[in-house]
Amino acid sequence: MSTYIGRFAPSPSGPLHFGSLVAALGSYFQAKSQNGQWLVRMEDLDPPREMPGAANLILSTLESYGLHWDQSVVYQSQRHQRYQEQIATWLQTGHAYYCQCTRKQIKQSGGFYLGTCREKAIKSSENCSIRLKVNEAISQFYDNKHGTIQIPQQLAQEDFIIKRRDGLFAYNLAVVLDDIDQGVTQVVRGADLIEPTGRQINLYRTLQQPEVSYIHLPLAVDTQGNKLSKQNHAPAVDIKHPKHTLIQVMRFLGFIIPNDFESASIDQILQWGCQNWTLAQLPNSLKVDSPF
Ligand code: GLU
Repeated sequence: MSTYIGRFAPSPSGPLHFGSLVAALGSYFQAKSQNGQWLVRMEDLDPPREMPGAANLILSTLESYGLHWDQSVVYQSQRHQRYQEQIATWLQTGHAYYCQCTRKQIKQSGGFYLGTCREKAIKSSENCSIRLKVNEAISQFYDNKHGTIQIPQQLAQEDFIIKRRDGLFAYNLAVVLDDIDQGVTQVVRGADLIEPTGRQINLYRTLQQPEVSYIHLPLAVDTQGNKLSKQNHAPAVDIKHPKHTLIQVMRFLGFIIPNDFESASIDQILQWGCQNWTLAQLPNSLKVDSPF
């Protein structure tokens, strides 16, 4: 039995588009090629940015692409207590603190938070965010495809937010606690998430938990080099005729598709993908033009 556990963790801010399917399929092939489990986690942490119905739409899209997940889907909206308890512990141990700085003030001081509230010992949570004390800046990490990746020093050393002023839990905290609790061993995701990786490694170290390994997949970009995203209206993938898009995503992930795939079923194509997947086939570039 393999001990590999991977995952796909979409945010339900809209339907799956080409770029999100790249992350879904890349993480799926990597997990299944190692006889591992592939989990799906719904990152519904930020209600104002969510689209009603998107979570179910994402799940039915995955199903229509033949991507069946192991275990039941975890929803971050149901894990607030876990996040809050960890924050309360850190406030007590001095690993985290309240911060009154506004976004505007941080912008005025050059765009980076300089530790203004670190030693203020603010007691009230009114109108405050909560930050983690970063004692060891993680300015590089090892990626199993790309080798050592650097993170800008100023970003790496910043005491970062784990709970926002508006009361929402921060993405980095939720992702790390969830990956630990779900036993995830490797994170495979888009290259747009390289920068937060240092912060996430910081959280593992603060929690004294074994770290996951990482693979960042090339980002699908438009002709101007911008990421395909829900914000810039990337079209939803075709849910009724998945085969064409499935093959396009597989080509994007570096597969050389055999000619006789015309008559193959989705399941056969995925099985072939799991058998033939290698990290070497992935493009070396972190940004690749999307076929749209
Ligand atoms: N929910 C994040 C997103 O959709 C992905 C989180 C992750 O893979 O770590 O961008």
